[in-house]
Amino acid sequence: MSSLAEPRRYDMIVVGGGATGLGVALDAAVRGLSVVLIDSHDFAHGTSSRSTKLVHGGVRYLAQGNIALVQEALRERAIVLKNAPYVAQPLAFVMPTYHWWDAPFFGAGLKMYDLLAGRAGLGRTEMLGRGETLEYLPTLRAKGLSGGVKYWDGQFNDARLALALARTAAARGALLVNYCQATGLQYSQGKVAGVLCEDTLTGAQHTLSSACVVNATGVWVDELRQKDGLAVPEPDGEATEPLVAPSQGVHMVVDREFLGSETALIVPKTADGRVLFAVPWLGKVILGTTDTPRQDLSREPLPFDHEIDFILKEAARYLRLAPKRSDVRSVWVGLRPLVKPPQHAGHKTKSISREHTILTSQSGLVTVTGGKWTTYRAMAEDVIEKCEQSGLIGRTRKGLTESLPLVGVGNTAMPTWSLALAPGWHSYGAEQDFVKTLPGAGEEICAGLTVAMVRFAARYEYALTVEDVLARRSRCLFLDARLASAVAHRVGDILMQETNTDPKTEAFLTLANQYVL
Ligand SMILES: Cc1cc2nc3c(=O)[nH]c(=O)nc-3n(C[C@H](O)[C@H](O)[C@H](O)COP(=O)(O)OP(=O)(O)OC[C@H]3O[C@@H](n4cnc5c(N)ncnc54)[C@H](O)[C@@H]3O)c2cc1C
Repeated sequence: MSSLAEPRRYDMIVVGGGATGLGVALDAAVRGLSVVLIDSHDFAHGTSSRSTKLVHGGVRYLAQGNIALVQEALRERAIVLKNAPYVAQPLAFVMPTYHWWDAPFFGAGLKMYDLLAGRAGLGRTEMLGRGETLEYLPTLRAKGLSGGVKYWDGQFNDARLALALARTAAARGALLVNYCQATGLQYSQGKVAGVLCEDTLTGAQHTLSSACVVNATGVWVDELRQKDGLAVPEPDGEATEPLVAPSQGVHMVVDREFLGSETALIVPKTADGRVLFAVPWLGKVILGTTDTPRQDLSREPLPFDHEIDFILKEAARYLRLAPKRSDVRSVWVGLRPLVKPPQHAGHKTKSISREHTILTSQSGLVTVTGGKWTTYRAMAEDVIEKCEQSGLIGRTRKGLTESLPLVGVGNTAMPTWSLALAPGWHSYGAEQDFVKTLPGAGEEICAGLTVAMVRFAARYEYALTVEDVLARRSRCLFLDARLASAVAHRVGDILMQETNTDPKTEAFLTLANQYVL
């Protein structure tokens, strides 16, 4: 915050610290640009901590015939797994089949997935017999099961990957500030010249200067776009049309025994034609997701009852041990920024076919939204190219993040462990030995969380509140909301010692209540 107050002209200001903004900030910093990134909440507070946790090419896109998108995502999948192996790893998936024609149909599609991945492939697709399928997924309903198809994709800890991006960008000279909201833009002769922002904890106001401002605020991009459109209207005088039509996705977490496996289950077609996953993650199982249009843009969207019922009903169709409402440990909701490019944007709209959209407004504000976590790096390169083409920054060299190990990756190969297992010291990758040197390494707050880890979060991972620690540094809120509530005061006390600011424990308890059914 004190660095923000210094009068300085940056090459680039990034607004929004989710996957998209953090990817852009890191790419820009690695290219030698001076960058500041602000987020109104915590890094990855929005959609980027609420994904299905898959680093994937997207079998759904394959089914839609979107080959270019799948190929790009498969390439990026390999890069993520290589650059952050302690937060992103390969995961085997089994798609059970119940009709004789399912196996050749899905098998052929998934073999195509292998072919598209080429050297970036993680393992061969295999056709499984009925017995093998049940070995991989012991809790699967056996009635009518004919076999299955096993294929490989990746999984990750989304909020911790976001942190690794933030900390790597900071190590490359970028300034990253959470709890700082962009409240408006500054202009010089009709062109964007900076961002007005407010420290949401103290109310202090700052002005940041740069000709290049990237609006990477996810589903919230229209707030800044519309302010910009009022200040500097488009030449045709049309009001700035909203770009985002939000749609929500619900996930539920249940105990490991409901799946009883380190292999994920994928149901290729639910009753409403979607894909349903049961993914082993950090010692529990994630079930999801839904796709429900919303009109509002809540920071903490709540699930609809029909979404909960739908996931439980679909899970019960496939799992012998069907989870009930009372078995759900945590339920969380993410908002997808479905992009509908404005009619009049014409040539200024880029890459719609690749899922993300980049727009430059009349004033030079660059907005990016859509896409997926897996392709954050490719999106970042596209954004920087767009800034260069628009003359907002000079030419730089791309591709530098392709082989850039993130903070937490050591020089030597790390021991193998699985993201399907409960969190612990291994969640810190090469930094685990250092975390263990902090006071309280032997004091466990709950399984997988020690006093030393909370101190590390406060000292090195930008954590300020109980929510930062329990939702995104440790994933306790996402794994077991009642347990998170039970340990909140203890975490708050440690944070208070570390930061001497209010850790907002009561607000966290109210929030955690929303994650319980
Ligand atoms: C249900 C669901 C499941 C998904 N699963 C997967 C998956 O398994 N794999 C995958 O690859 N992708 C997945 N995705 C997609 C992926 O999660 C998103 O594409 C990605 O997280 C979007 O990141 P973002 O940075 O654009 O948005 P966000 O993460 O929402 O970040 C935007 C940030 O902007 C900040 N902000 C907003 N307004 C302001 C302001 N005025 N000033 C400062 N900051 C501001 C917010 O606080 C927020 O942190 C999923 C998406 C959903 C919804």
